[in-house]
Amino acid sequence: MGGLFGVRAAGLRCARGPRDPEPARAVRCQCPDPLPFKGGPSWTRERTLVAVKPDGVQRRLVGDVIQRFERRGFTLVGMKMLQAPESVLAEHYQDLRRKPFYPALIRYMSSGPVVAMVWEGYNVVRASRAMIGHTDSAEAAPGTIRGDFSVHISRNVIHASDSVEGAQREIQLWFQSSELVSWADGGQHSSIHSA
Ligand code: UDP
Ligand code: MG
Repeated sequence: MGGLFGVRAAGLRCARGPRDPEPARAVRCQCPDPLPFKGGPSWTRERTLVAVKPDGVQRRLVGDVIQRFERRGFTLVGMKMLQAPESVLAEHYQDLRRKPFYPALIRYMSSGPVVAMVWEGYNVVRASRAMIGHTDSAEAAPGTIRGDFSVHISRNVIHASDSVEGAQREIQLWFQSSELVSWADGGQHSSIHSA
């Protein structure tokens, strides 16, 4: 019950201020579950790979990206910073290997560390594609990550898987299963299962 950390958070409850004479337990309120699908019958554990590319890491955008995904209600189940091996990049971008920009893409993705993450949530694949925005920064809508930060299609800050099947393939490519956690309760509390 206590999970790996041996604790279980109190959950989302309203508490009175320090000057209030009433004990906090008297004012527990019925806060709505902010993540209604988690644990419900329609909830499936969809996961996607998101990676902040070398330009995004260099420009100190990692925190902003994490904050956007957390605020959207998604759950972080894996994260690491690494210099991506060329073999991983070649497999990751295998569908693009005949494109004229492919050599430059591999050079760009090898030019510094990336921060790879796995996010989990309801429809997370589709939602994260909407959050990152169009591949070409000229087309990316304001409010999307690329629309807010990217200056050119060849320096577009972030990657997110474009299908559920692609996400499964990319997660296996970038992460060992032992590097991913499985939250006991969808990530709302502090207990976690083993990977
Ligand atoms: N890319 C590029 N020039 C192009 C098209 C794509 O440099 O004309 C790069 C860009 O970094 C893009 C990546 O190749 O993010 C993968 O392309 P894809 O079409 O899969 O776009 P994405 O799924 O990243 O939006
Ligand atoms: Mg793509």
